[in-house]
Order: sequence, then C-alpha cells, then structure tokens
Amino acid sequence: MSVNFPVSSFYPKKGCKRLLEIEIKLERGVSEAKKKPLPPRLTSSLQGHPPDWKIFHKQAEALEYAKQRGSGLMTFSFEEQVPGSEGRRKYVVTHPTNMWKNHISRPPDQRCSYEVIPAESQCKLYFDLEFNKLANPMRDGSKMVETLLEACSWALEEVFNLQVRKCDVLILDATTTNKFSQHLIYQNPNIFFKDNFHVGNFVKHLMMLVKDCNIPNIDVNDQRDLFVKNDKGESVSFCDLAVYTKNRNFRLFLASKFEKKVPLLIAKTNTYLPDRTRYSTEDWPIDEAAIFSSSLITYFGNDQQLGAQEEEQLLTFGNKQLDELMPVNSSNNTTHVDLAKDPSLNGYKSSPWIEIDRFVTELIAPAGTIRQWIYFEKTETIVYHIHGNRFCSTIGREHKRNHIKYVVNLPNATYYQSCFDPDCANSRPPPQPIPPERLPWYNLLTDSTPFDIVS
Ligand SMILES: [Zn+2]
Repeated sequence: MSVNFPVSSFYPKKGCKRLLEIEIKLERGVSEAKKKPLPPRLTSSLQGHPPDWKIFHKQAEALEYAKQRGSGLMTFSFEEQVPGSEGRRKYVVTHPTNMWKNHISRPPDQRCSYEVIPAESQCKLYFDLEFNKLANPMRDGSKMVETLLEACSWALEEVFNLQVRKCDVLILDATTTNKFSQHLIYQNPNIFFKDNFHVGNFVKHLMMLVKDCNIPNIDVNDQRDLFVKNDKGESVSFCDLAVYTKNRNFRLFLASKFEKKVPLLIAKTNTYLPDRTRYSTEDWPIDEAAIFSSSLITYFGNDQQLGAQEEEQLLTFGNKQLDELMPVNSSNNTTHVDLAKDPSLNGYKSSPWIEIDRFVTELIAPAGTIRQWIYFEKTETIVYHIHGNRFCSTIGREHKRNHIKYVVNLPNATYYQSCFDPDCANSRPPPQPIPPERLPWYNLLTDSTPFDIVS
C-alpha cells in the first residue's frame, strides 16, 4: 500500500529541535515502511495462530481462500491509495490478531480497513446507526440510542426469551458536526445469530414494531424519533437496514473511511468492558486490542469456534417469521372492512374478537398468556403470540428458547399452533375447527371465501 502521509503533520509547526529529530527519524521509518507496508513475515503466536497474510484483488477469491484455509482466518478489506485516482479496495486474509497488529501500527488516517461479514457466517447482533444532523436538528442521537437499546431488549425478550443489559453492548462512535454515526455490537454469547441475514430480519421486525409505536413501555414520541429525515427529506429508519446484505464490509474499530479523518472510537456512553474469558490477554494484551476483538462481527474470541452448546443456541429469524409478523395495513376487498380500518388491529390487550381471545387463553392456561395479537387483513387471520407457555405440538414438548403462537383463521373458523422455531416451519399441524359454540357470530359470515392459511 502506498503512503502519502507526512509525519510532521501530526505536530505543531513550532516544534523544538529534539522533536524535529524524532520527526525525521519517524519520517524515515514511515518511508521504509512504505516499501514494505505489510508485514513480510508474521510469526505465529504462542496460541499457534497461523501467520498467513495473503492479499487479494477480488473479494470472492479472498473469501474462498479463507474458507478453504480455515484455522480462524478472516477476510478484511482495505482502501489503498492509487496515485491520480480514488482509493481502491483490496482484501487480506489473515488471523484477526495479525490484523490488529497491522492496523494499530499504521498512522491513524491510514487505517481504512473493514471486516468482511461473509454470507452464512455465524455473527453477533449489530446495528449501524446514522442520521444527518443538519436535516434533523431537533434529534438527540444519544437519547435515540437509549430508546433503540430499550426497544431491542424488549424484542429479544419477546421473540427469543432473552435478557440483555446495556453493558453487554459495545458502542462505537464516529459522529461529526454534520453526521451522527454509531455502531452497536451485542456481546452476549446467547445472542449470536446463524448469519447476518437472520440479524437483518430481526432488525427489520424490530423497526417495524417501532414504526407502529408497538413497543410497550416506551414513549410513543421516543419511538417515532427513531425515524429521521434523509438528505432527500424522506422519513427513514435511524438504523441502516442495508448493512445485513451478503459479504457486507463493516468498518473496524479505530478505522476511518478513506480520506476522512474520523476514526470509529469507543463512545462516551459505552459501558461494555471486554470479556477476558472470551478475548484472552494472551491474544489481546491491551484493552484497546480487546475492544478491537469484541468489535468484530464474526469473531468470537478464544479459539473462535463456538462450543457445541453455543452452536445449538444460534438465533434465527427467517423470512417466514418476518412475513408472518408483517401486519397487512393496506386495504383490500375484505368482508371485514370496518374491522380492518380499526387502528387497533394489533395490540397487547384484547383483540376485537373477544370470544377467540378467550378460547386461545384457555388453550394455553394456566401458565400462558396472550402477549400480542396481530390481524392479517389479506388472509383474515389473527396471530396470537404466547408468553409463559412454550409447548409446541410439533415436537411434543416445550421449546427451550422459541416462543409459540396460535394462528386463527376467521372465515374457516379454524386454528393451529405454530412456533418461532424454523425447524418446525415445515411440519405445521393441521388446522383444527374452533367449536361453533365458541363463535356465536360465525354463522353471520356466510359470504366469506376460503383462502390460504399463513404458515
Ligand atoms: Zn415448534
């Protein structure tokens, strides 16, 4: 990588003679480093990490090499200065400990590196939060992050029955006078996801709930504030939902975007301390190094391999779950037009179908309660999310982690139990009829036509 970075620009102009000598020495060092910018030979560490440092021009080739080679190697990308033109992105496959050594030895504005989050790789829950401060002068970024953390905690509990604390979340910041910018990276081992596609679906679900102000116990105005104006004046989510795509490049701790001298630092509001049982002092001797390791989305410390139990606990949130949770709010030619226009078409107390609420409540008694209900206008279906009872008829026992739900089809007067476990998705029990005496109004709906049941 070529370097155009005079060390003297770090220091005030009126430096003393001694300082000048140091500068000259450093300049010489930098000039030497330019000739061999990447470590010529890395020795493997005491833990026996491989010394590989292999550069690629194409991301696909780098990812393939890392996959074939295994041994905890990861793919990183970096911006390289090309004389007379813009930066060029290249890729390096190496162990994260080597990447850190290289990263920290560079001048701050030469750290233009990213982690490549490979498709189908286990990963942490992460958020990229940003908004234009000039277009949203009344917004308080720190308060918005607090709201998001709270909303996310609620959704993790709701969907996965998991608890999370603020000190479990690493918060990094690269905010400028014009732009608010933070990364959140969740560190709990029980909140690791199967891959970033599942993370993306979960985050979309979360932001859908926030958009409809459906998170209980959070002020409606605070929820609305998580939607901001973009440069075109459109209302958009404060979470960038584009960061969950295939092979996403995600900026490293202390890195700046190419030719922008704004590094990603630990946020003032961060309370996470590196977990030394996971990110050992042998591999990551100083705190900064441990923060670097914690900030990696697809690196889990220790020997990098998740334990069997952790593997089994990886969270998923598939397309089916997302579709099912997506309330249909556009009008169509349904026989329940009045109900469909009712603003309370999903909620946490009773639904407009009190008899059905009562029926479902009896099915899940005594431990279970209805956590939430959502009405799907297109299919005239009510989905009840259940709390306190996780018995799944597909597996014949309680799920350890996934919640169950009951799906009621109004025109057919049938119901079935389903769950949030993707393993159960393809073996749904057949719909059962709801006893007619439970539906005194059912014979009034004679004009209803049959339809597909949501899965
Ligand atoms: Zn199940």
